[in-house]
Parts: sequence; C-alpha cells; structure tokens
Amino acid sequence: MDQKTTVTLLELAAKSLLNNEPAAIHALDEIPRDLFVPLFNAAFLGGHKTVLKAMVQVWPFRCLHIGSLNTRESSYDILEAMIDGLQILPAQNSSSWGPKLRILDLRPDLDCETICSEIGTAFPFCLQSCIYSQRSIFYIEDAQHSVRCLGIGNSGSEPHSAQEPMELLVDISLNSTVRTEQFLSLLCSKVQQNFGSLHLCCRGLRIHRMSALKSILQFLDLGCIEHLEMDQANLREVVTLLARVIHLNSLTLCNIPFKSYKRRNFRSFLLWLGQLDNLQELSLTFFCLTDQLHTLLRVVPPQLDTLYLPFCSLSNRDVTVLSQSSQATHLRVLSLSNNQIFSEVYEPFQTLLEKVSSTLQHLEINNCMITDSTLSAVLPALSHCTHLRVLSFAFNPITMPVLKSLLQHLTSLMKLKYVIYPVPVHCYEEWNFHESLDRQKLAEVQAQLEAVLHGAQRDDMTWATCSK
Ligand SMILES: [Zn+2]
Ligand SMILES: [Zn+2]
Repeated sequence: MDQKTTVTLLELAAKSLLNNEPAAIHALDEIPRDLFVPLFNAAFLGGHKTVLKAMVQVWPFRCLHIGSLNTRESSYDILEAMIDGLQILPAQNSSSWGPKLRILDLRPDLDCETICSEIGTAFPFCLQSCIYSQRSIFYIEDAQHSVRCLGIGNSGSEPHSAQEPMELLVDISLNSTVRTEQFLSLLCSKVQQNFGSLHLCCRGLRIHRMSALKSILQFLDLGCIEHLEMDQANLREVVTLLARVIHLNSLTLCNIPFKSYKRRNFRSFLLWLGQLDNLQELSLTFFCLTDQLHTLLRVVPPQLDTLYLPFCSLSNRDVTVLSQSSQATHLRVLSLSNNQIFSEVYEPFQTLLEKVSSTLQHLEINNCMITDSTLSAVLPALSHCTHLRVLSFAFNPITMPVLKSLLQHLTSLMKLKYVIYPVPVHCYEEWNFHESLDRQKLAEVQAQLEAVLHGAQRDDMTWATCSK
C-alpha cells in the first residue's frame, strides 16, 4: 500500500469518526497517534468545535499548527474552542503517552505542516517557536538549564518549575468589531489565568485605526511581532509603536495622513525605521514621499527585497535615487504604481530596471502614464529581467501594435507566467473612461494576444486585463 493510499484511508477513517462527536471524543484516548493529524484536519474543516477542544486537551505532539487550513475572522469560534482546550501541563511530563502540547499556533500559514517532525527531545522542537521573548519556552528553559548547571536546582529558585512553559502563537487584527473584541478578551483572560507559564506570542499585528489598542498591548511582547500593518494612523502613533517592534520582517503603512508628517515625526520615523535590521518588506501606500525617497533608502537595510510604493507621489528624482541605491540590486518585488514617474523622462526607470534585472520577480507599474514611446524605450531593459514572474502595467495609454510587440519580446522570459496589461486605447471612445469601453474590441484584443502566445508556444503564460 503506498503512502498516498494510507493517507486517504486515514482521512476516511477520521471523517467517519466525526459522524458521531461523542464517540470521537471518547475514542481520543485509544486511537493511534497517526490518526490525530487527519482527524484534526477533518474536525477543523468541518467546524467540530467540541472535538477540536478535546483534541487540544490531549494532543500527543508538542506543537499544533493550523497552517494551511483556511481560517477567516468568521472562524473565531473555532479558534476560541482550541484556546479553551489549551491547558498548562505539569513539569517533567515525560511519559510517552498523554498530552504533550507546548506550542499552539493559530496563524494561517500555507507552508506550515500541522506538526513539526520530532527530531529529538531537546529544544527547539518546533520550527515556529519564539526566539525573542523572555517569556518564551526557549528563554525559560535556557534560564532553568543555567540554574541547574550552577548546582542550585533544588533550592526552589528555578523560574516557573512547577509547570511547563507554553506558547500560543496568533496573528491579531484590531478592527473594533465586537467579535474581534470578544476574541481578544478570551486571549487576555487565558494569559491571565496562566500567568508566567503561557506566552502569548503575536507575530502579525494589523491595526485599523488605533482603536482598542491599549488594552491588548499590555499582554503582548511587541518584540515578537514580525509583520505590522497600520491603516489610518497618524505618523506619531506609528513612531510610538515602531520603537517597540524591533524584530519586524515586514512593515505596511496605509493612509497615513500627510498633515501628521511634522518634521520631527518624520525624523523619528526614519530613526526607528533604521533600527529594523530584519526588515525585508516595506509597503507604503498613500504616503507622500515626493523628493524624500533618498532619506528612506538611507536607513532601510540593503537586503530589503520587497518595496511597495503606490500612491506615494514619487518624482523622477526619487526613481533616480532608487536606481542608485544598494537596495536596487536585491529587490524581488517592486511596485511603483499610481505615481507619475514617466511624465518627463524614462531614463531613471530604465536604469532602475537594469539594476534590478538579476533579482526582480514581480513588477507593478499600473497607472503611471506610460506611453508607447516610453514602453518601447524600456523594453530592452525589461527583457533582461529573466526572473520576472508577474508583470502588471494596467491603466496606461498603450496602443495595440506596441502591446503586441511587447508580448513578442516577453515570450522569451520563460519564468514570466502572469501579465496584467492595459486595455489598448482604441478600445475606448474616451481613454480610460469605463463607460466608453467597447467590449467587442477588447475581446478581439484578447484573442489576438492569445494567438501570439500560442504561436510562441507560451500557453503557460496568462495575459489578462483589468477592465472593470
Ligand atoms: Zn511546530
Ligand atoms: Zn514570542
């Protein structure tokens, strides 16, 4: 029997067990460990909250990740059932049977398996365990180990030795809805109940306005946060938080009102941004940066690989600065959409493309007023971006002949699979005015492009448009 058949059989067994929830819960004491993961997946996808709670209580592995199982805010009740089942284990819980859960990870992550393979008994046993907080398993066990090595293990001075330290990994979205507040309140009370033993480890924090923030912040170690997203906060509030989230991987700021960019606030923003040594992704939307990009690039790490700057009122000078920056040779993802960077000259962008050509995988230049002549001029540089997978240049005034010529050039980029192209100008009576779009003409355009793709044996490449 091959592995795939075994997996399918386990899935079938799990599903049939769930037809009778009380029986499924009763069986948890007896079923083999191998059945736990398929049973968990089936219970999660089927919304069997009572079974999920019971499974967390007796989980026979040291970590549990919801990983790729799809969850949205509407699934709060499922996550709550799992949190409810989380119980702190007594120390020295070394029996081969019985509950073992030490890390419950409620973050959606497409690349994460339900459990980490158990290589050994020593820490770190889980790929996602916290390495920053003083309340993490890593830190506490390291402290306990040091105490033991000093030979004072029986003095009763070991930190939290009666219970196993545990971690609850979450992404938190502060959006002021009643449901979110209920969820946060459950998180807070769980931490309070298990103070000292349970580390609430928030890796992703999304804040829509600064509402309801203060009450949850006292329960979080902000040094654990890897992804921070803030929408409609003023720059002073951003700076206050930025000073405490020193291990950020990615920072997304959207709709930061321009009137809050007082000189002192902007200087502080740059100061704290410069402290984020792990930063790899920076996304600023509706963040006015005209002739200021150099100040930003001076402080962000050179290894930054994602730079999103739509609606940032960038100038040609800013593009020139970007092309000369150390970041330019590392960028994998770049968005300069909705900036009028082609209104005067195209050379800065052309130079930038040459610089990023050895790394760039994803490029967005939608609504930048790119014309036929500009596109033709930058085409040779674009053709050198051999790692490019996604190109989006919608809402630019391009004609059909130039679009076809572009397609013919780009078919040589074998990694390029997805292109969002602008509706050619002849399809509109009045360019870019949605009501004047001739859908028949657009359908003919699509057919012609597909014919060229087919002729070039590039049916694996998708060309689509945003016409809505
Ligand atoms: Zn794990
Ligand atoms: Zn942590």
